[in-house]
Amino acid sequence: MHFIFSGSVNSKEVLNHIMTDTCCIIIGASHAGGQLAVSLRQSGWEGRILAIGSEPYLPYNRPPLSKTFLSGEKHIEDLLIRPEDQYEKVGIEFLLGQEVSEINRKAKKVTLTHGEVIAYDKLALTTGASVRKLNLPGSDLRGVLYLRDISDVEQIQQFIGARKKAVIIGGGYIGLETAAMLKKLDLDVTIFEASDRILNRVTAPDVSAFFTRVHSEEGVTIKTGVNVTGFGGEDRVSEVQCADGTVFPADLVVIGIGVIPNTALAEAAGLEVRNGINVNEHCLTNDEDIAAAGDCTNFYQPHYEREIRLESVQNAMDQAKVAAAALCGNLNQYNALPWFWSDQFDLKLQIAGLSEYFDEVVLRGNPAEGRKFSAFYFRDGRMIAVDAVNSPQEFMLGKQIISKQLEVDRNRLSDPAVAMKELMVSL
Ligand SMILES: Cc1cc2nc3c(=O)[nH]c(=O)nc-3n(C[C@H](O)[C@H](O)[C@H](O)COP(=O)(O)OP(=O)(O)OC[C@H]3O[C@@H](n4cnc5c(N)ncnc54)[C@H](O)[C@@H]3O)c2cc1C
Repeated sequence: MHFIFSGSVNSKEVLNHIMTDTCCIIIGASHAGGQLAVSLRQSGWEGRILAIGSEPYLPYNRPPLSKTFLSGEKHIEDLLIRPEDQYEKVGIEFLLGQEVSEINRKAKKVTLTHGEVIAYDKLALTTGASVRKLNLPGSDLRGVLYLRDISDVEQIQQFIGARKKAVIIGGGYIGLETAAMLKKLDLDVTIFEASDRILNRVTAPDVSAFFTRVHSEEGVTIKTGVNVTGFGGEDRVSEVQCADGTVFPADLVVIGIGVIPNTALAEAAGLEVRNGINVNEHCLTNDEDIAAAGDCTNFYQPHYEREIRLESVQNAMDQAKVAAAALCGNLNQYNALPWFWSDQFDLKLQIAGLSEYFDEVVLRGNPAEGRKFSAFYFRDGRMIAVDAVNSPQEFMLGKQIISKQLEVDRNRLSDPAVAMKELMVSL
């Protein structure tokens, strides 16, 4: 599909003043790309803005893909981050269903896969990430699928049916959310996780145990320490084969084993890449005419004093604003505290900060019972992250403590008899 919005509706002020001889090209039209386009205009960019995206849709919300879009409650039009006319009004053009295959930094031009060459003055890379593939015997059978975009979900939906057997490979957030939704749709769902617990990389053992318990209460089977070696079936998958020789029947397999940042274009153009496209605190690459934002970037996070790459909507949107400003010559700092959420069954998990390298966990509430508790992660006595399940106040409190680096009495924090209001007031 190929849309161009030349922008001739309303907001005549803006449209009359667009300098058509200057152009900012944005590669990737999703969370980061769409926000960057809008923020460019808000930051005073007077030239053309052209967002090129390989998917045939205007920027849409990806989180519902494993939640309400998978279940059919939401449709494509419900996912759009902004309606078409909001882009038109400020003269943002989209070239959708088109992929950029090359960046020529010297000539300041990009080439599309079908050969068209377009010149830029400023460039933004918001190319996101792609699913990590599991290349095993039988991986190409029908029904062995991934979940990253709308077309992935549309394929999964073709294999959904009551009592069908779904195997999810990978016990991370995407795997767990998909499992919860497929269970709700009445499939028999089993999660295979290679390590000894789900959410191993991102949470404390108590939190993993909590999610294992809830999934099991809801009827999802979780098998840990399982190494999948291949898939069997005629033309479509019918079984999953494991290293210990067991064979598990399956009508549908969804693989959720992480993502890889889309950095090939940047690398080929000679931009610095280290686990993502390297950007400075202004979201600029080592070429000052090129910014980058979102899942594709690697950056120094001052709060955690290390380089990180994030996969979250908050990061994509916040970086995009800083990147847009920088392309307009306004050098703001990107130092937002990361936050994230996950919805599974009746659980709303809200996460602030990064728990990696924690040396102590303080629990408020009991994760072994019920469906409401919080885990506060500390390192060297300083709070670094919070996982709050059905506890929005604890999430807000944790976010505040972490971002302001406040001291907190851990005994009082862990005591549910001490009201949240009291803890907040004492900060
Ligand atoms: C199923 C699912 C559930 C999620 N749930 C949550 C959640 O609950 N909370 C949360 O915070 N985050 C969640 N995320 C993560 C969140 O969606 C991502 O962090 C976010 O989409 C990143 O936005 P982005 O714009 O950086 O990259 P992407 O959304 O990956 O977009 C990049 C776009 O660039 C395009 N592109 C790449 N290369 C080219 C090229 N050469 N030419 C043209 N176009 C190109 C891609 O096709 C893609 O459309 C979820 C993700 C998935 C997949």
